[in-house]
Amino acid sequence: MLRRSLFAFSLLAAAGSAMAQAYPHKPIKLQVPFAPGGTTDIIARVIAEPLGKALGQSVVVENKAGGGGVVGANETARATPDGYSLGMATVSTTAANPAINPKIPYNPMADFTPIINIAATPNVIAVHPSFPAKDYKGFIAELKKSPGKYSYATSGTGGIGHLQTELYKSQTGTFITHIPYRGAGPALNDTVAGQVPIIFDNLPSALPFIQSGRLTAIVVAAPQRLAVLPNVPTFKEVGLEPVNRMAYYGIYGPKGLPKEVVDKINAGVRKALEDPAVRKRIEDTGSLIVANSPAEFAAQMKAEYEVYKKVVETAKLRLD
Ligand code: GLU
Repeated sequence: MLRRSLFAFSLLAAAGSAMAQAYPHKPIKLQVPFAPGGTTDIIARVIAEPLGKALGQSVVVENKAGGGGVVGANETARATPDGYSLGMATVSTTAANPAINPKIPYNPMADFTPIINIAATPNVIAVHPSFPAKDYKGFIAELKKSPGKYSYATSGTGGIGHLQTELYKSQTGTFITHIPYRGAGPALNDTVAGQVPIIFDNLPSALPFIQSGRLTAIVVAAPQRLAVLPNVPTFKEVGLEPVNRMAYYGIYGPKGLPKEVVDKINAGVRKALEDPAVRKRIEDTGSLIVANSPAEFAAQMKAEYEVYKKVVETAKLRLD
């Protein structure tokens, strides 16, 4: 009798520990550190469902906007490293903002576990149709003619839109005023409504407005001209190579994430990206699928952070 109940007990204990170890056994949170409607939100929502299918658990997207993405990124950095609190890793929160903001509450290199870079996206400067120029030549001429007359919208203070436009200003000797939002979604809303004449955005969120004629694309940051915008020059073509940098959208967790968990999520994203329909949804936004290893993504994050530190130093950029 005693022996039998001991046996039953050890069976139960074994089942219990197997259950505790089997990842994932409950829904996973994928946090977006910007408002809905921006590129981070778009990429997260494309990948969440097929990733959930690959992992056998739902992946739930949650937006936590504020502080140029820093509020949400800090929450992911402080989360329990059990694989149930993941976040979207963006160039703004891991490279641009940490490079310019000495008060950032996390260390972008030490406080996260990089998992995978999903996609690289071009950036774009676009204007409201009422802006008195439709192409790059007219755009720069107008900025030079009227310093301080125009303002530009971005996804937030210290983000890639802010830093790259400040770099653009310092390279071209122009002046436009920064208006930060809680993400590209609200920044786009106000630009499309004509409240701000210029926006610097990542292409996926801006593209539908460009294609429907509600915004005019002026110049893009991409290795070469984009098939979706064949008439729009790259920053490199207009002699501004340093501004010709893409953004990245990946997944990370807090530091100390177990390797098995990292590998499972990495494999899950790769599996999700094997589906041509999922690939198409990402590629139709003008993005390039990356799908690399955790070590490769960690190296990319580090390299981009170094680039932005240099940008801040060389152009003597400062938060206003
Ligand atoms: N500009 C942000 C980034 O690339 C994304 C903004 C957004 O998704 O709203 O990091």
